[in-house]
Amino acid sequence: MSDERTLRKQIVEIARLCWERGMIGAIDGNVSVRLDDGDLLVTPSGGIKFLIEPEQIVRTAPDGTPRSGGRASTEIRMHVTCYQERDDVGAVVHAHPPTAVAFSLAGLDTLMKPVIPELVATLGAIPTAPYGTPGTDELPESIRDLIRCADAVLMERHGAVCVGKDLLDAYKKLEQIEHNAKILYMAHTLGGPKPMPREDVDRLLATREGLGLKGNNVYCNHCGMPRGMSPSDL
Ligand SMILES: [Zn+2]
Repeated sequence: MSDERTLRKQIVEIARLCWERGMIGAIDGNVSVRLDDGDLLVTPSGGIKFLIEPEQIVRTAPDGTPRSGGRASTEIRMHVTCYQERDDVGAVVHAHPPTAVAFSLAGLDTLMKPVIPELVATLGAIPTAPYGTPGTDELPESIRDLIRCADAVLMERHGAVCVGKDLLDAYKKLEQIEHNAKILYMAHTLGGPKPMPREDVDRLLATREGLGLKGNNVYCNHCGMPRGMSPSDL
């Protein structure tokens, strides 16, 4: 684990990257890491993401109570939920990737379906948590069950939350979501994406397991379908 000073700088860099890459508006989103002692470092409430300085990053107790450095992001409870549910999570990135959010506004769950081999083999299906009122416990509770078995979750009408062993690991999943959402959006304008044939999904998932690429998201390595779905649903 890097020292706190380095991690503060990395949070600033990732927050800026989120803004530069169009994953958030200036004050949207939030980024956190878990320290060795369980405390969290998180972006400050209302901070302009391309102007934040390392010393503005807020240190909180494991439950999100600030220890120093002002007011933590209002969405800190979403981060706390991820750390509570997963011992393997060292960082959380929350953003509003526009194309992926548009899918949730339109009620399309295409990101759950095995359409793009690269996504199937790496991240897997991306579930959408039901809408929760921002600023209330509904939001963190909406992702609690899903984050146990998914490294990336969309939140209906809101954004994405991605977890990883470190900041870059979490951030790369955010890019994966938005990049693939853009491809799927274009496919929708061309008549709609076609799910991969079952046998191709099977073969791909076997490869994924063999290469050690198995993601935590909810594609079943046995049936190739997101949990709760059967091939006839596609
Ligand atoms: Zn948000």
